[in-house]
Amino acid sequence: MTALVYSEQYKNHDTGNHVENERRVQVIMETVREMNLLESDDIFEPDMVEDEDLLRIHSSDHIEHIKAFCKKGGGYLDYDTIASAQSYETARLSAGGALKAAELVLDGYDNAYSIGRPPGHHANRYKAMGFCIFNNLAVTVEYLREVRKIKKFMILDFDVHYGNGTAEIFYEDPDVFYISIHQDPRTIFPGTGFISEIGRDEGKGANLNLPLPPGSDSSDYKYILERVLRPVAHKFDPDFYLVDVGFDGHKNDPLSSINLDDQFFEWIAVEMMDIADSITLILEGGYDLNALSRCNAKLINGLKNYQVLKDKRDKDDKKGSDTNSKVYDQTKNIFQELKEIYSPYVDF
Ligand SMILES: [Zn+2]
Repeated sequence: MTALVYSEQYKNHDTGNHVENERRVQVIMETVREMNLLESDDIFEPDMVEDEDLLRIHSSDHIEHIKAFCKKGGGYLDYDTIASAQSYETARLSAGGALKAAELVLDGYDNAYSIGRPPGHHANRYKAMGFCIFNNLAVTVEYLREVRKIKKFMILDFDVHYGNGTAEIFYEDPDVFYISIHQDPRTIFPGTGFISEIGRDEGKGANLNLPLPPGSDSSDYKYILERVLRPVAHKFDPDFYLVDVGFDGHKNDPLSSINLDDQFFEWIAVEMMDIADSITLILEGGYDLNALSRCNAKLINGLKNYQVLKDKRDKDDKKGSDTNSKVYDQTKNIFQELKEIYSPYVDF
């Protein structure tokens, strides 16, 4: 069973005609309803997170700054991150959506997906950044750890940008294994997320970056994810799986130079469900509205029908369709480099 978490109130984070605007989640939900992807009983309203939920991750200075800034009417928090009068409440709602999705998984849904905004993965403990105000995923992890006593988390972030905020928050944490696949940071925001960034102190070996060069496509993503996800899950043996969803790696997206096709988003949903049995998903980026609504439908289809789709994939694999021939040498080299760097931690 699949659940969605969404609120009409997300429009109250009013960013005008910024690429990260209210239409993003609206077109997603319009398509969900038009295509009848889910029963209305499986679509849930989030609640705003409490102060204590935010304070587990964010400094009180950051929280108070956002609150006061919005109270004065908002504006630019930095050169590309906007807040409006109601963004503080809406950001708390977006974090609450992620938390609700996790709760729904604990209640027995196979997967639950929070379609919220503002996004979160660039926000660190101390500041908003890259369209993100509070780190929705990190707030959820810390809630699950403290309130629900869950110990080990594995995160896959396939937004085209490195989730630098999430990575930084858990950089010294051995119980949160963060994997991010993204466009090479030399060519895109935020400029970090190199293969050598593997975590610090006790967290060493629990931060894994897969930076792929511009022009990489679904074959490259599949090649590397097929070789990385399962061994990590096997070695690390997490209690809870989270997926940070980004559609900005799609070939039509205006912000990136990665060329994913629509089908990738169904593939990754099936792959993660096959590895994890249950997953909590949280929306981050994706800025081409048409691609966004189509690919989101693909993702939800994968979440709902993963068993049937997995059986079909296994059958096709047996027929021996060799997709590796289309993989760029650069991708294979990145995997080899990763294999060496991670040899003390995970055997790929
Ligand atoms: Zn992004």
